[in-house]
Amino acid sequence: AIPFLRVSNLTKHFQVGRGGLLGRNRSVVRAVDNVSFSIARGETLAVVGESGCGKTTLGRLVLRLIEADSGQIEIAGTEIRGLDHRAMQEFRRRVQIVIQDPFGSLNPRMLIGQAIMEPLDIHSVGTAKARRARLAELLDLVGLPQSFAARFPHQLSGGQRQRVGIARALALETDLLICDEAVSALDVSVQAQIVNLLQKLKHERQLTYLFISHDMAIVRHIADHVAVMYLGEIVEIAPKAQLFAHPAHPYTQALLKSVPRARVHERPELAIKGDIPSPIDPPSGCRFHTRCPHVMGICRSTPPARTTVGPDHSANCHLLAQALPAAKGQTA
Ligand code: SF4
Repeated sequence: AIPFLRVSNLTKHFQVGRGGLLGRNRSVVRAVDNVSFSIARGETLAVVGESGCGKTTLGRLVLRLIEADSGQIEIAGTEIRGLDHRAMQEFRRRVQIVIQDPFGSLNPRMLIGQAIMEPLDIHSVGTAKARRARLAELLDLVGLPQSFAARFPHQLSGGQRQRVGIARALALETDLLICDEAVSALDVSVQAQIVNLLQKLKHERQLTYLFISHDMAIVRHIADHVAVMYLGEIVEIAPKAQLFAHPAHPYTQALLKSVPRARVHERPELAIKGDIPSPIDPPSGCRFHTRCPHVMGICRSTPPARTTVGPDHSANCHLLAQALPAAKGQTA
């Protein structure tokens, strides 16, 4: 089957600092570096990692809210990076985003009904009557009473506002929903409700999700496949059950050890030493070598290649290439 979303060798670097005459003071943030993955229609790929790993930039690149330096983004077989403004409009109807703080994204003076309908206004879709019917349908879909259309954002709870964010994102013919820490700011019980709503919508509408999160406990619940990001790179990607049962990369192993059992909404303490290094001029060789408990000499100088460790399961670590001489090393 053709993947619904295929991202190949996607790269985005940001220049920071002042460039003197020779540009010596300029540094490069390797926000997203040579990232490749694909998602089948109706599936959820979770992208996990600590803040600063590049996962939010990745979501915005797929939406073309920012432009990549290089690489490909194919949606349903169409390369979208070269699309002109008009063709892009069409594509924007199909790809939407739900972000962490729905309050920040909702205009405080706009009624909820108007906010949900705004994408239809922007794309000039439907008659006034059809839009009213659509609004009723969307409120129903996300489990909000019809009377909420006449309320303002500040009259809603966090979970209710996130339902508004989801309704808004589904107002058009959305196929791909990018959820960027979409439940991270909510209380645990509300998190579960929103995750269940997302699951229900996925099955009813064959939605494809790119689910960006720092929270392994939520990812465990919602993902079909998981990609682990560290300092701009995907270091491991696998079907969910495989990743949780047999994490191959030392960073994934540390992330999994850090999952608290109860307080999922709190930032877990990582079971590894040290803070995540700055993505500005990241460590040479394997970017994880400054924190890795298994670091070897080669790790400091040579970036590890992507190594296949099982069906649909690969990771970038020198240990794997050594431990599995039969495994086929591939350059990502
Ligand atoms: Fe650790 Fe080396 Fe593997 Fe990197 S390549 S994760 S430093 S063992």
